Amino acid sequence: MRLLRPVSFILPVVAAAIFLPHTGEVRADGSFIDHTDRGRFGRVRNSRAILPMREGRSPQIKIVQTPSEGGILENVPVKYRARFEKWKAEFVSTKFGKDLWEAYANNKEFVLRITVSGDRKHGAGTDDFEWDETGRLVGATITLGADLDDGFPNPIYYPVLNSLTSYTVSTGYAGRVLAAAKISHEFGHVRQIGNESMSLLETQSRLIPVYVSIFRENGLNPNDARLLAIESQIGGTPVGIWESREYSSEISAMLYLHERIGGEPRFCSVFNRIKQNLQTYAPRYEPRFGQHAEFEACGSGSRERSEGNPDTQAQ
Ligand SMILES: [Zn+2]
Repeated sequence: MRLLRPVSFILPVVAAAIFLPHTGEVRADGSFIDHTDRGRFGRVRNSRAILPMREGRSPQIKIVQTPSEGGILENVPVKYRARFEKWKAEFVSTKFGKDLWEAYANNKEFVLRITVSGDRKHGAGTDDFEWDETGRLVGATITLGADLDDGFPNPIYYPVLNSLTSYTVSTGYAGRVLAAAKISHEFGHVRQIGNESMSLLETQSRLIPVYVSIFRENGLNPNDARLLAIESQIGGTPVGIWESREYSSEISAMLYLHERIGGEPRFCSVFNRIKQNLQTYAPRYEPRFGQHAEFEACGSGSRERSEGNPDTQAQ
């Protein structure tokens, strides 16, 4: 993953006062960079105070003409083509992935660009969002790391992707499932931004840098009245907005995994790990997951499913 060029360079003092997550970033244009295995793990002691964004990003709400020849544009270097095809096949092997893929592939008024980059390594990101003049999202770019099938994100913000550390199967397809789960997460970001108001995103893009600036100057006091006023305009703290989107995208990964490995012996190990991660690091988001029946597929216990042989599942 393109390791977040450490936020520590902008917040040396903050780093001393709080634990920065160093795991992800929402940029001022509302785009995402997902950090996987190389992020430092940090406990969120005061989430109001954590600012997972870089300074100096200018808002990039980009308005374009409504596309008429859209769909999915795969821009994958030849050297990564074979692995990409495997990840994609894994993703669309589920109804969840197939329906999503076809929805974007057949939408002529939306351009979804998908690329693979060696720079992103194990990570992925979604950015380059585009809206038309009516405020409708009409374009986005998903960038997948060339080593997407390896590397587990931290459990704090990526409780689902991290749960695949429990998915120990002896054949090689576990990596492809991990890659496809990460792809599901990124599709989640696209869908999510499509459901958000462009004007609110613009306001966030404009005011988050102001928030950061005030926060740095006020002695890192998150209760500053000016910050509270901004929060009311942008719908929360910068980190609250960011983490909410990450957890929503994790639900996409969970739905993919439920369908893909639901019949396998390790299934409940994985889903119990999801619960454990949420209960440990983000209990307030558990109800959001609980709105989906899939989340409760293994109940609250730790029973293992016994049917199926992990080594003979779809490869
Ligand atoms: Zn994400």
